Amino acid sequence: MASVGHVIVGLAAGRLWAGPEAKTSRLVGAMMGFSALSLAPDADVIAFVFDIPYADAFGHRGASHSVVFALAVGALVGLLTRLRGGEGALSLAALSAAVVASHPLLDAMTTGGLGVAWAWPWSTERAFLPWRPIPVSPIGAGFVSARGLKVAVTEVAQLAPLWLWALWPRRAR
Ligand SMILES: [Zn+2]
Repeated sequence: MASVGHVIVGLAAGRLWAGPEAKTSRLVGAMMGFSALSLAPDADVIAFVFDIPYADAFGHRGASHSVVFALAVGALVGLLTRLRGGEGALSLAALSAAVVASHPLLDAMTTGGLGVAWAWPWSTERAFLPWRPIPVSPIGAGFVSARGLKVAVTEVAQLAPLWLWALWPRRAR
């Protein structure tokens, strides 16, 4: 999956979290925060820099694409919110975990590469979902190419209901 699809999930989660009455600055902040969370698992592409093989537990789509990782990030977000005295730490933790978990879920619906190590650390086996409608995007610089663009456009089309809802103009207040 190109980064576009993950960002769309982040935008929708941000709108959901901010609620209909939020100030624009709060809405934009929430959208940016959740987009960062939805992209976080792909920080593992750094593995390629360190010559960690794709199929390794810490290779691309490895440990950071597991359910455990999503839960850990959610717990961390909740904890930080609680420590800073913010409200709704528990629901924020749950939504954060869901947003991070959406990443391997989308990756598991792509047509190429290796599957995701969703069950890490119990299993390093890579898995896909049986239904894989999303074309896989080229990694790294290849993303900025004709094929990368085509993949991005496909994702935008497939996730249209989500981003349309996320970006739909709000009633003037
Ligand atoms: Zn990924």
